[in-house]
Amino acid sequence: MPLTARHRRKRSSRLFVTLLCGLLPVALGSVILYMQAERTLQQSAQHTADEALRQFELMLDNTAQAAQVLLPLAGQTCNDVKLALREQVTRRPFVRSTNLVWDNNLYCSSLFGDYQEAVNPGDYNQGKLWLMNGNPVTPNTALLVYRLSEGRGGALTTLDGYHLSNILRLIGRHTLLLLQVGKNWLSADGKVHTGPLPALPVAQNTLDSSRYAFSVSAGFPKGETWRYMTDEYPPLFSLLIFFGAVSGAIGHVLQKRSTSPSHEMQRALEAGEFIPYFQPVVHGDSQQWSGTEVLMRWNHPKEGLVRPDLFIPFAEHSGLIVPMTRGLMQQTAALLGPLSPTFTAPFHIGINITASHCQDLELVEDCRIFLDAFVPGSVSLVLELTERELIEPTDITRQLFEQLHAMGVKIAIDDFGTGHSSLGYLRQFNVDFLKIDQSFVAMIGADALSRHILDSIIELSAKLDLGIVAEGVETQAQCDYLRAHHVNFLQGYLFGKPMPAADFINALSHR
Ligand code: C2E
Ligand code: CA
Ligand code: CA
Repeated sequence: MPLTARHRRKRSSRLFVTLLCGLLPVALGSVILYMQAERTLQQSAQHTADEALRQFELMLDNTAQAAQVLLPLAGQTCNDVKLALREQVTRRPFVRSTNLVWDNNLYCSSLFGDYQEAVNPGDYNQGKLWLMNGNPVTPNTALLVYRLSEGRGGALTTLDGYHLSNILRLIGRHTLLLLQVGKNWLSADGKVHTGPLPALPVAQNTLDSSRYAFSVSAGFPKGETWRYMTDEYPPLFSLLIFFGAVSGAIGHVLQKRSTSPSHEMQRALEAGEFIPYFQPVVHGDSQQWSGTEVLMRWNHPKEGLVRPDLFIPFAEHSGLIVPMTRGLMQQTAALLGPLSPTFTAPFHIGINITASHCQDLELVEDCRIFLDAFVPGSVSLVLELTERELIEPTDITRQLFEQLHAMGVKIAIDDFGTGHSSLGYLRQFNVDFLKIDQSFVAMIGADALSRHILDSIIELSAKLDLGIVAEGVETQAQCDYLRAHHVNFLQGYLFGKPMPAADFINALSHR
């Protein structure tokens, strides 16, 4: 069965589908892995920000506790309190210096003792925290100052920026971490910047401290997601590529399988692979070629010439038989039409049709176009309908056969004797010819019962005034018998096998 061959034109689309099957799992998998990587980075950034926040709060707790201890001392002379100031610096980790304020004037410092410097509460975020870029003692070094005030007094305790940038560097080893206090922010290199925080391109997370006036932002540089994937997912990528290859292979195999008979025939139809063969029908007395039956062949690119009984059932099943027959009629008209001026008597041209042709009136138009290709009156178009699958009489079929008859198209019941058409049926469709099935012809001289059926058919057709064609005439004895019984049209290997158009036209023109 030649229903698995494929056409070159479809190769590119098959390749496309195979590639799609292969790439789709890889692409989908990559998207999922990308999303997973983004999620992981998001979690990691959040975790880092959380951890940094916790560390900063711990440090500020120390600083705040020092300020709380010192605040009640504000207003006392510096001499009286400077030891207490220094004690806090010594005892508290992270505290770098302590200072007392009275009326917004820093008057005593753990470092210098007596001191004079104006304090501007507006420098402090929410009046509490100031991220400074150094002081006269250590310029350009980050300092975080904690301010606690009550009435006219106040305490300022400072946290060394070195500890802060250490946290930013160590906790966020693979993460970008920033500490923001008001409009100032600190980066991991220990530098204090003023202005809006730079955007962190991947997985930015900002957490505000609920206890102190600062926030922490964590994130990753651009391209981090892909970098993470290439670092972490190579085994998964290998798996994806493996699945892609398997899926591509499956897609390829399925496509090979899914080329259904009807797809294959559709392709063949478009490629013009269905061609007519012609078998002569002779006149019994004169042995003259009085017509032909058009028999379809599939000229398959790989399988060669395919017999109709191997593909006609599929064509009927898929409904493709209608356009296939139309193509056959067009080819026949183009081949025989030009010869029609030489036809002396109407030349019979038999075309096989099926029940699917009788579901609408399209066949009428096909026959009209067919007949238009011939000199008017030079041919007699005979539609052969097999008795094995007779059509139901409906309004459409009645109209169809009426219109066909009006155009001079004739109807033959093919394989007559093998089915069960009634006399009523023959009348209803105004049948013109009976084609005696070859099985009866083959029994001539051999089987008394078959010969009896044959004789009855011949008798019946004479009574109903139907033309009769005997098929499958292979021997001279069969020919003689049929002629003696007034069967006038004979068809069979004795007179000619179905042949290609060129041979048929050549033989016809020599007669
Ligand atoms: P069919 O319409 O009964 O056609 C006659 C079949 O008998 C042809 O077979 C022909 O080659 C064969 N035949 C003719 N003379 C002899 C003979 O002396 N001895 C023997 N043994 N066989 C002979 P083919 O061409 O293989 O076609 C087979 C069947 O396929 C046809 O039977 C017909 O039913 C169907 N078919 C062929 N072409 C078409 C078509 O265009 N449309 C439709 N619907 N069916 C077609
Ligand atoms: Ca036939
Ligand atoms: Ca037949």
